[in-house]
Order: sequence, then C-alpha cells, then structure tokens
Amino acid sequence: MNRLFDLTALELAGAIARGEVRRDDAIHAAFAVCTAQNPQLNSFISLTSAAQPDVVNSPLSGVPMAVKDNICMARSRTTCASRMLEHFIPPYTATAVERLLSAGAFCVGKTNLDEFAIGSTSETSYFGPVKNPWNLAYSPGGSSGGSAVAVASGQVWYALGSDTGGSIRHPAACCGVTGMKPTYGTVSRYGLVSYASSFDQIGPIARDAADCAAILDLIRGHDDRDSTSRPGPYAPLSGQLTGDLRGIRIGIPDVYFDQRVDEPTRQAISDCADVLRQRGATVALCHAAGLEHAVHAYYVLACTQASSNLARYDGVRFGCRGCEGSNVQEQFVHSRSLGFGREVKRRILLGTHLLSGDNYETYYKKALSVLHQAEDTFRSLWQEFDLLLTPVMPGPPPKLGQESNNPVALYQEDRYVACANLAGLPALSMPCGIRQEGLPIGAQLLAPPMGDGTVLNAAFAFQQDTHWHRRRPPIFGLGGGTT
Ligand code: GLN
Repeated sequence: MNRLFDLTALELAGAIARGEVRRDDAIHAAFAVCTAQNPQLNSFISLTSAAQPDVVNSPLSGVPMAVKDNICMARSRTTCASRMLEHFIPPYTATAVERLLSAGAFCVGKTNLDEFAIGSTSETSYFGPVKNPWNLAYSPGGSSGGSAVAVASGQVWYALGSDTGGSIRHPAACCGVTGMKPTYGTVSRYGLVSYASSFDQIGPIARDAADCAAILDLIRGHDDRDSTSRPGPYAPLSGQLTGDLRGIRIGIPDVYFDQRVDEPTRQAISDCADVLRQRGATVALCHAAGLEHAVHAYYVLACTQASSNLARYDGVRFGCRGCEGSNVQEQFVHSRSLGFGREVKRRILLGTHLLSGDNYETYYKKALSVLHQAEDTFRSLWQEFDLLLTPVMPGPPPKLGQESNNPVALYQEDRYVACANLAGLPALSMPCGIRQEGLPIGAQLLAPPMGDGTVLNAAFAFQQDTHWHRRRPPIFGLGGGTT
C-alpha cells in the first residue's frame, strides 16, 4: 500500500510544503485509487478532469479532496444523485468549495449520495448504491455515503458532506472516519442544493479531528450570499486543540443511552467516556426531557421543507423533462414522475400532506413546539454541561437492500443525530470501536451553538489516546501503487 494514503490531510500538506511529496504525485495517486475502487464501491458520480490552480501557503494546499454531489461546482455536473438533475451543470461554485479551491485544495470529483440527500443508507441514488468499504454487504450510511467512503477507503484525504438530520455524522460513524456538522449558519449554504433549508449545513469528513478543524477554518465565515449566515468574528478552531479537558463537564443523556442501544455500542461509548475522564473531563449521566420526540419533529419539518424546496423541479425552470402532456399541468406531472425516485416522492407527498388543511395545526405547529421544547431542554443542559456524549446509531449500519422494507424504522434510527439539527448545534462523530462483524462504531459529541472548538478539542484529546481513527478497512489505498 502506498504510504502517502496513511497521512492525514494536514500531514500530507506539510509533506508537500516541505518538498517531500509532489502535489501532482498525490493527485495521481488519488485518481488511481478512485479509478481502481469506484467500480466496486460506487463512491463517486463523476471525477473531475479540469486543471486546478496550485496555491501555496495554505494549511491544506495541494491535498486531493472530494465534494458531495449536492454542492455546486461551476462547469462540473451536480446531479444530487437524481435523474432530475442528471445533466445539470451549475454556472457557479458553492462558497465552501470556492474557499477550499482558493486555498489550493484539489477536487478529485463529486461523491455519490442518497437522492437529494434524503435518506440514510446512500442507496436511493439514481446512480446505484454506495458500498461500505469495511464490508461490501453493508450500507456506508448516508446520505453523504460517497464522501465517507472516499475518505475511509483512501481515495481522498477529506471530503465535504452536508448534514440536515445526520447525513455527515451517520456515514462517518458507519465508515470509521471523523465527520462534523458545524453550528448552523457558520458555513455558507450558498451553492448547496436545498433539502430542508433551516437544518442544512455543509461540513467536513476527514481522517481525524485536527483535519476537520483545519478544513472548517478554511470554509467557515460570514457570507452575504446566505441569508442565514452568522456574522463574525470566527476564532480559528485549530488553535483550540490543546487536548486538555480539565474542567470540561460532559453529560450522557439518558434518552440516548437506553435499552435500544446494543451492547457493543454501549460498551464503546462507556470506554470513550473513560478516555475523556482520563483527560480531565467529568462525565455523568443526565436527564434530557422530551428529546426522544425530536426525531419525529425533525421528520415533519424536514418533509414540509423538502416538499416546497423540491417544487422548483418541474421540467421547465429546473430538471429533466418528461414526455409531452396535453396541458402544462400534465407536463409537470410527467417530468416529476420521471425525474424523482421513490423515497423523494414519499417525502414530497408526506410534506405536502402535513401542510394541507387542518394538518398544518395538527402536525406542523406541533412539530415546531417540539423543536422549541428541544431547544429549551438543551439550554438547561448547557447550564450543567459543556458537552454531551451520545451514540451516533443504536447498532450496526443497515445491510444493503433493506432500505425499502421499513422506512419508518429507518427514520427512527436518526434519533441520536437529528436533534443537533433542530437546535442548530455543532456535532461531531468519531470512531470509538469496531464491532465483531468488523464494522466501526461512532460516538457523537454535541456542544452549545458556537461551541465547535470545544467539540473538536474533546475529539482531538480522545484521538491522542486511542487508535480507532487509524484503523483502515482492508481495501484502503488499494489501486494506488506502492512507494
Ligand atoms: N436521514 C435523514 C433524512 O433522511 C437525514 C438526511 C440528511 O441529513 N441529509 O432526512
């Protein structure tokens, strides 16, 4: 295996800056692994061919990375893994990508996902399912499955994902990599194709917390082109990675650590708590009233926003066009029937139903009050704790092919992750164990809004004392040659 792949993004950038590794060699190695592995893993929808400028003097310059295919890059296809946008080439680049490119990042390609980022298995893609590099019979999680797989299998050193209700943290946990959803409003949504705008955030998936901090330092910041962007100042996150957790109070919410969590996950989370304690933190179980309802509210609110955001794809303004209808209404029906897949149609129907007539009061308003209750619960938890520690999922990732059997059961699995999106909190998933079947286990850390540095520092501290983030699946780096 090529030793280059074992470096973190920061280490590779350092080696390039010192002249020990040539930028072009890293790029060629990345393309070689992507090309060799993609037929098996299906993590990329397209590879980029365009030359990209070399910029020196940036902490990640020259490092090959990938971008989830619901984030726009000018002159590159952005499909959202949907037939609807199969041939869409955006005329502009998302702010987050623009910031990385102008800091010398090299984008290898656009990664596969659940159609329009709706889902948690990366199986609903029009371009076929993504496979888990640890075990090809399993889903890599989702919706940013392609990004997590590209990092976990050594195709790139980091990737951008998007997280509306767990879509960065869930696949990061399933694939044994570190992923972070930053505080809502800190990374511009300009150029991110909307799913549920009040929850959508772009964030990094990388080898470790230090890489996540470096990537976020490049992409965070106010942007006039996103009306929900937070004004500055933004203190650099990398500077907050001291590894010292003395005085940090960590709570483990009881609702997320009950009998629904399987034994390997429980064990891994309590081992994780022990490591954090040894670093100086105090860790205690706590009561989190009402948070068990957060996932239901998330699904009501996300579906209603999806139904209105996806209304623009009518085959006229946006999207593919179905066969001629006898009137414009029929034409829209043909285009939308052709362009959208089953799960997306289910969400649009649910969202439209939840907003019609009395349902608005019965469901939508109720979901909003649950959201406000979750915010209150978190506010009172932050009086006592600086961080919360939870599992990312209750058990192993789903096996491929099970996605359509019971959608509601799959929705329930988001109960540990969706609450962070409801309250706009920073949340990170890091590898903290491996189960007997050889699949990784993830731990989640949450903090109050703008506590991104506290989250990253706790993950950094954990990774100083553990090796889980250094475990690689057998396929890692294969196809990249040897050095
Ligand atoms: N699984 C969740 C959903 O299907 C979250 C998706 C996401 O975060 N983009 O809505």
